[in-house]
Amino acid sequence: MTKPKITVISLGGTISMVKGTTGVTPGLNADDLIAAAPGIDEIAILTAESRPPVGSSDLSLPEIFSVAQRVVELAASGDADGVVITQGTDTLEETSFLMDLLLDPPIPVVMMGAMRHPLSTSPDGAGNLANAVRLAADPRVGKRFSDLGVMVVMLDQAWAAVDVAKANSHRIDAFTAPETGPVAVFVEDRCRLVSFPDRAWKRAVQRFDFLNQVKVEALTTKPVAIAPMSLGEAGGSLAAMAKDDDMFGYHGMVISALGGGHVPARVVPALVALLARMPVVISGRMGSGYLLQKTYEVPGSEIDLVARGFSYAGRLPPIKARLLLALMLASDIPRAEIETLWLDLN
Ligand code: ASP
Repeated sequence: MTKPKITVISLGGTISMVKGTTGVTPGLNADDLIAAAPGIDEIAILTAESRPPVGSSDLSLPEIFSVAQRVVELAASGDADGVVITQGTDTLEETSFLMDLLLDPPIPVVMMGAMRHPLSTSPDGAGNLANAVRLAADPRVGKRFSDLGVMVVMLDQAWAAVDVAKANSHRIDAFTAPETGPVAVFVEDRCRLVSFPDRAWKRAVQRFDFLNQVKVEALTTKPVAIAPMSLGEAGGSLAAMAKDDDMFGYHGMVISALGGGHVPARVVPALVALLARMPVVISGRMGSGYLLQKTYEVPGSEIDLVARGFSYAGRLPPIKARLLLALMLASDIPRAEIETLWLDLN
């Protein structure tokens, strides 16, 4: 049987670290990562593509946009049957969701990284890369990849990009999908699909065709902010932003809200002032669960905020809601249509 062709695109991160002066620093490329994973070439015919290695906190929306375009090119040319993207873990839950927003994946797309760098005692990078290649090359995934969407592999599990979260700052098992669990697990030399993600959100956003509609420079010039809510928050920075001529340079706001989608009552006037000038989306700071729509009526609760015209992010956590809003703003989608879309996500 001919082996599938998998392209490994490297972007940096812990998996790519080499010895620096005071610590480790990104340095390895995709060829190095493949060479460090013995036996991986038995799974697939591998091609390496390397971008300048950086820590994933220095990746940008335009960079991920250009990786998504490259995936489309690779699929159209027939040069790849699947793509594995290797990067730092700090932003992996964001970059993978951004890829999933941009792509109706034309081939399986698997993203991964490592929690332990190659100079540590038991690094996880090579095993994670082998599992990612195994998933991208699996014939059952090849038949169902548009139902699975972009996936993230770490250790012996894979998760849907929409559901995955980095939930620990340092542990090797830092990744999880709190609401849903994995879509695949790795056993011996196989991957086993164990569930399929809810893709209703994808069907709702598909009409915008972000990959063709986004103006790439607007991903930088129309940034979206996230404001965290907490006990006793007074909303001073939000009020100042609403008064600022340039709104501190932001074009949209995501509120990392309490509980079912609540803010302290004293923050509401600042939020209302902001909503008069930019889209404001309420998202939950818990990282899992749908927001409420019709239970609590006190000022700052969901009935109050929905009635005032705020959009609710459904089950998207703030960092993922922010990416969706950024793509909508960069596609020049009219505000009324932006607000309608959020309704579909609830
Ligand atoms: N700081 C690293 C990064 O995100 C952490 C990692 O890769 O695990 O690039």
